[in-house]
Amino acid sequence: MEIDLVSDAQSPQAIRHVGVAVIGGGLAGLAAAIRFRERGWQDFLVLERGDRVGGTWRDNTYPGAACDVPSHLYSYSFALNPGWTRSFSRQPEIQRYIEDVADRYRVRDKHLFDCEVLGATWLADEARWELKTSKGLITSDVMVGAFGALCEPSLPDIKGINSFAGHICHSARWDHDVDLAGKRVAVIGTGASAVQIVPAIADIVGRLDVYQRTAPWILPRLDRRYTAPERFAFRHVPGYQRLARAVVYWAHEAQAVGLTRLPLLMKPMELLARAKLRREVPDPALRRRLRPDYTIGCKRILLSNDYLPTFSRSNVRLVTDGIAEVRENAIVTSDNEVHEVDVIVLATGFHVTDSPTYRKIVGENGRSLGDVFDDVGRQCYRGTAIAGFPNMFLLVGPNTGLGHNSMIYMIEAQVNYLMDAIATFRRGGYRTVEVRREAQERYARTLRRRLSRSVWNTGGCTSWYVDKHGANTTIWPGLSYEFGRMTRSFDADAFHLST
Ligand code: NAP
Repeated sequence: MEIDLVSDAQSPQAIRHVGVAVIGGGLAGLAAAIRFRERGWQDFLVLERGDRVGGTWRDNTYPGAACDVPSHLYSYSFALNPGWTRSFSRQPEIQRYIEDVADRYRVRDKHLFDCEVLGATWLADEARWELKTSKGLITSDVMVGAFGALCEPSLPDIKGINSFAGHICHSARWDHDVDLAGKRVAVIGTGASAVQIVPAIADIVGRLDVYQRTAPWILPRLDRRYTAPERFAFRHVPGYQRLARAVVYWAHEAQAVGLTRLPLLMKPMELLARAKLRREVPDPALRRRLRPDYTIGCKRILLSNDYLPTFSRSNVRLVTDGIAEVRENAIVTSDNEVHEVDVIVLATGFHVTDSPTYRKIVGENGRSLGDVFDDVGRQCYRGTAIAGFPNMFLLVGPNTGLGHNSMIYMIEAQVNYLMDAIATFRRGGYRTVEVRREAQERYARTLRRRLSRSVWNTGGCTSWYVDKHGANTTIWPGLSYEFGRMTRSFDADAFHLST
C-alpha cells in the first residue's frame, strides 16, 4: 500500500508502509529526499531522531564550530549559495543554509522528526524492511541508511571518569547553559573540533588545559569575509560562482595524488606547516611538543590561524602526559600530577568504524551489520551496498570519506547511484536487489591494493580511518571525480535482482 505521506508525515499512527525509508536527515538524507521529490516519487519518508534537518551541523554547536572546506564548495551543486558571507563558513550559517534548502525544495514535510530508529530487520518472506522506531513500526520496500559517520560521540574509557563532579560534555553535545567564565577547563583531544574550541574559549575561561595524545599538522586557514562587490558578483554575474567553485574543487582535487599515491608530494605542505609552527610558537620546548611525528596527511590536516598561538597565553597549558584517571574534581596524569578542573570537554571524536547503529540493522539470517563487519571488515560495494542486506543502500558508507575535498560532492555522487538503482528496481518490478558477494569482494580487494600506497597506510600514525582489523575502511583512495564517474549509473550486473 502506498499512502500520501505529504500530509501524514507528522502523524506516525497513519504510517504503515513506505516505498523508501531513509534513516537520517543530514546532508545525505536531505539530498536523497530532494532527488526523490524531483522525480515525482512521493512514497518515501526520512526518519530523523533530531527535531530539525542538519545532522552533524545541527549537533555540533560548540564555540568556534566551522567548516574547513571552502563555502562555495561545501554546498550542493544544485543549490549554490551566493549569499555566503565568508570563504569558510561557520556552523550557524551552514545550518541556516541546510534548513533553507529543505524549505526551498519543499522536503521538510517528508521528514518525521524526533523519530529514532531503534532497530531495522529484513523480512525475507515479505521482501521488506521493518523499522522499529520511537514513533512506532514502519515498513519499507527499500531502506536507505543516511545516518552518517560523524554522529555517535566517542566517549573515552578513562578510569574514574564517571566520578567527575564538575560539568562534562562531548564537543558534539555542547551545553550552552554552562558558563565557562573564569572556570578551570580541560579539553581532551586535539583533532578538528578541539583546534576550533581551544582558541574560541581561551579568553573566557580562567585556565585551560589541553590534553594532547597526538599532535596534529596544522596549515593556514585562508578565511576572510567576502566583500560586497564579491557577493554581488556571486549573485549576479553569470557563471562567476560556478567558476569560483570549480577552481576550488580542482585545487583540492590535486591533493589527492599526494595523499593516495605519492606521499612525497606532501613534503611542501609539511614544510609550510613546520614554518607556521616556528612562527606561531616562539618557545622551542613547547614547539617540540606540538610537532607531529608522522607524515602530514596521515591524520586529517587541520586548518587554523589561532590554535597554535593560543598556547603562548599565560592561562593555557599543553598537557602531553597521558591521562591516568579522573577524580571528583581533577584529572591525574601518568606523572602523578593532579590538575584541578571544573569542566571537561571531550573533543574525542566519533564512533566511525564501529558505529552502534551497525548492531541495530539486521539482514539475512538474523545477522546484524555489526556481526558481518566483525567477520569480514567494513566491506561495502561502492560505499553503498552490502551482501546479505537486500534492498538496503548506504549513503556516506565505508570508504567514501575524503581527506582532501568536499563530502557533499561524494554525497551527490552516491545519491545519483541510489536514484538509478531504485529506478531500475522499480522499472523492472523487482522484489529484491542485493549486491553479488564476488563483486563486493573484488571491489574490497581493489580498495585495499590502492590504499596500501596511501599516506593513511604508510604515514606512521594511528587514526579513526582504520578499523579494528587494521584496514582503512573510511577513506576513498582516489580523486573524488573518479568516484563521481563510478557512481554515475547503476551497474545492475554487480547485483542479484529477483522478481
Ligand atoms: P578526532 O579527529 O577523532 O579527534 C579526536 C581527538 O581526541 C584526537 O586528538 C585523539 O587523539 C583524542 N582522543 C581520543 N580518545 C582519547 C583518549 N582516550 N585520551 C586522550 N585523547 C583522546 O575528532 P574530532 O576533532 O571531533 O573530528 C572528527 C572529524 O570531524 C574530523 O576529522 C573531520 O572530518 C570532522 N570535523 C570537521 C571540522 C571542520 O570542518 N573544521 C570540525 C570538526 C570536525 P589521537 O589523535 O591520539 O587519537
